[in-house]
Amino acid sequence: MYDDNGDGFDCDFADPGGRSSLRAGKRNLPCPTCKQPNRLTAADRQHRYQCDACADRDEGRGGY
Ligand SMILES: [Zn+2]
Repeated sequence: MYDDNGDGFDCDFADPGGRSSLRAGKRNLPCPTCKQPNRLTAADRQHRYQCDACADRDEGRGGY
């Protein structure tokens, strides 16, 4: 896939059609919620996203 994708934030979902809203790219930033390292890309942080696990928990889909 992408080696580096620092621009064009509109249509570069990491998992198109999937439930994740995280973006494609290097995940080298920690999740702001669970503090796990290497969860988010710079684009994710820019959009104030959290990691899939935290997003699922917030949306009531945890428990896996
Ligand atoms: Zn998290």
